Amino acid sequence: SDTSETFDLVVIGSGPGGYVCAVKAAQLGLKVAVVEKRATYGGTCLNVGCIPSKALLHASEMFAEASHGFADLGVKVTPELDLPTMLAHKDKTVRANTDGVAFLFKKNKITGVTGAGRIVKAGEVEVTAEDGAKRTLKTKAICIATGSSVAGIPGLDVAFDRDTIVSSDDAIALKKVPATMVVVGGGVIGLELGSVWSRLGARVTVVEYLDKILGPMDADVSTQFQKLLVKQGFHFKLGARVTAVAKSSAGASVTFEPAQGGAAETLEAEVVLIATGRKPYTDGLGLQDAGVSLDKAGRVEIDAHYRTNVEGIYAIGDVVKGPMLAHKAEDEGIALAEILAGQKGHVNYAVIPSVVYTSPEVASVGQTEEELKKNGVAYKVGKFPFSANGRARAMLHTDGFVKVLADAKTDRVLGAHIVGHGAGEMIAEAAVLMEFGGSSEDLARTCHAHPTMSEAVREAAFAAFAKPIHM
Ligand code: FAD
Repeated sequence: SDTSETFDLVVIGSGPGGYVCAVKAAQLGLKVAVVEKRATYGGTCLNVGCIPSKALLHASEMFAEASHGFADLGVKVTPELDLPTMLAHKDKTVRANTDGVAFLFKKNKITGVTGAGRIVKAGEVEVTAEDGAKRTLKTKAICIATGSSVAGIPGLDVAFDRDTIVSSDDAIALKKVPATMVVVGGGVIGLELGSVWSRLGARVTVVEYLDKILGPMDADVSTQFQKLLVKQGFHFKLGARVTAVAKSSAGASVTFEPAQGGAAETLEAEVVLIATGRKPYTDGLGLQDAGVSLDKAGRVEIDAHYRTNVEGIYAIGDVVKGPMLAHKAEDEGIALAEILAGQKGHVNYAVIPSVVYTSPEVASVGQTEEELKKNGVAYKVGKFPFSANGRARAMLHTDGFVKVLADAKTDRVLGAHIVGHGAGEMIAEAAVLMEFGGSSEDLARTCHAHPTMSEAVREAAFAAFAKPIHM
């Protein structure tokens, strides 16, 4: 039977966008429900994305360090891989995080509704549970936070089988280490999960359409980082257009040809990971019937205040334009909740850090050198290598560098790019600086604890505004 309940806000999707929006809205006094079709809250990020991949990246990095890194520190060990325990660590990490979201819902008196949500019209969401039971939620506002799903390869019908031809969903749960792996796509997800299995013993080859890995990253960063991955045993086929992925006796085969045309090549592997990106997910949401417009890329179209073209229906996160990142989705969730509560929520899209959790890590915020050139901005570059940093030497983590880009006239920092151990943590200081409109001189004149990796960030800032001390 159909029972109706009335809310101020119904959020569809409990990923970082949806659950954070719900928590913030509840904190601001709104009556909130969240509809989630998965059995657990947390969306892609907590269940099959950020969190499980980081659990495996950390564990496999410890294995790799024990295998090759400890000896030079005078620690002799002969590590043995226990993959089931490593996977159990990942599962426990996921569970702790998804349980954490359930706890936050309870704490903030948010109604969680399990089932697939469909927008009947503005003000009305119908939820269908797995057993077919339906429930209608009446609401003043609807937030679409349905995220994204695996994109596949444009123009190719890839037959994912969860075993040999896999997406990231299954590459975080392989039951044994494949001897060989081909990763299609040299972006963040491919390089992170490729790193996990490479460290555990797989021979990994990355096939990438562009002639660089990490497409949107600063070219200096991509070039340096690729060299470091090659040292770790990665193989690369760049400028390669994949024309076929098929099952084979060895597992699966990937056929590709030079992007500009030429002779085709085929690689065989036990496992092929397709990591060519993600697409906005709006299946079954009823957007067409509700009259909600999508853009050409299939994303829900929004204005600067997350409003769709239908009054009372909003959208945030991976399902709208912008970088597909958990913290971008979260910040949009907070901004929308504030707007709905009558405040002035907003997100500064110029300062959204992005991190690749490989070894070493890669982190970036603001504009790349290529973007500054394209935009005709006069800029200064300050660079500093970790090989000249005392703490990095002490830890044997001397790979990589910091690059600070500042406006040539005003000295305002416009971008920061780091390849190095702990880059993902260090980028936060550049983000804070940029949020406050700081200059490279501001950064260089800020006292940094010694000895820390962060001193390299300061030295790069010194290099941009004057001269580095230690080089
Ligand atoms: P999602 O997290 O995708 O959540 C959407 C939720 O909506 C899902 O749970 C889905 O089941 C639910 N849903 C969809 N339709 C309906 C419906 N009709 N009714 C009910 N529920 C519905 N980002 C980072 O910032 N850092 C990382 O380290 C990182 N690592 C990643 C690693 C991997 C392997 C992957 C795949 C992604 C990674 N990401 C990372 C990206 C990140 O996961 C996404 O940017 C983020 O999850 C987007 O959040 P969201 O709330 O928009 O959507």
